[in-house]
Amino acid sequence: EQTIKQIAAGEVIERPASVVKELVENAIDAGASRIDVAVKQGGIAEIRVQDNGSGIPQNECLLAFQNHATSKLSRIDDLNNLLSMGFRGEALASIAAVSHVTLISKPSAQENAYMVELQGSEVLKQQACAANNGTQFIVRNLFYNVPARYKFLKKDNSEIQAITRIITEEALAAANIAFTLSNNDKIILQTPGNNDRLSVIQALFGTEVADKLLPIESDPNFTLTCSGYIGRADLTRKSRRMEYFFVNNRSFASNIILKAVEAAVQDYLMTRTFPVAFLFLDLPANLVDVNVHPRKLEVRFWNDNEVYRAVYHQVKNSFSAYLQ
Ligand code: ADP
Ligand code: MG
Repeated sequence: EQTIKQIAAGEVIERPASVVKELVENAIDAGASRIDVAVKQGGIAEIRVQDNGSGIPQNECLLAFQNHATSKLSRIDDLNNLLSMGFRGEALASIAAVSHVTLISKPSAQENAYMVELQGSEVLKQQACAANNGTQFIVRNLFYNVPARYKFLKKDNSEIQAITRIITEEALAAANIAFTLSNNDKIILQTPGNNDRLSVIQALFGTEVADKLLPIESDPNFTLTCSGYIGRADLTRKSRRMEYFFVNNRSFASNIILKAVEAAVQDYLMTRTFPVAFLFLDLPANLVDVNVHPRKLEVRFWNDNEVYRAVYHQVKNSFSAYLQ
């Protein structure tokens, strides 16, 4: 049974960045307005995620680590209607199966905080303790019992890059939440949580980037509306690393969106380099399937041609509007 749990965990939890993503999305679900992520050695040694959200009542702390115990899936069409980010109810169970995890949580209505500690899904300890309102997860010794996976962890450096990408995406999507990320006690990024997307971009990428962006004017005549920012000609890049896409406010990879944006930029700017793009696409939940990929990284749209057309025109029109 232990082996089955570990294999299942491998599906969801591939590397430290997957742990960070799941913990951060849980904190967002819990209504946090600040989320602090502190890792050691790119998350290989330790991952801490602290939030000021709703907290987990003492009697639910262990339940939270049970498979599907708290799944929010009530009906089948919820699958397509991702109102909340976490929906499979298995992330914490998976994390607990392959690491040493400590949870400390305090709902504001509860007098004391409570802590539970698990390793390889076994409960090691549980007791009342002192802590602020909100929740903290500490994950250590990731993959200690899955040598094959532990061996394939990349160097600290590439793990922290993957984590930085995750937090960057979450922070762009949730401009109302103040994020910090540190590695080995050194601050890597910090966002203001002031609900202003451009100041989040500025905090993440500096004024050099923020000052050279054009707003994308969303056109309600399209089923898929597109807003956000696109870099001017003097801000193009040699790689795709600065292309960020969000569908209904979640980050995804999508070839069709890539092609549409790059075509619009190339047709307008007459340049073959890659744009800096922060694109937020909104469309009715029933026209997009976000569950194609087990790790929810890719989307499938109801009609790729329509998506292409909508993105292409809205991006291109934003350039025209500005450059006229
Ligand atoms: P899911 O998010 O899909 O429900 P998880 O395994 O990620 O499944 O989390 C299990 C449950 O634990 C959540 O549904 C939630 O009730 C609780 N939980 C996890 N993290 C937090 C948090 N940071 N704040 C409050 N509750 C949390
Ligand atoms: Mg979750």
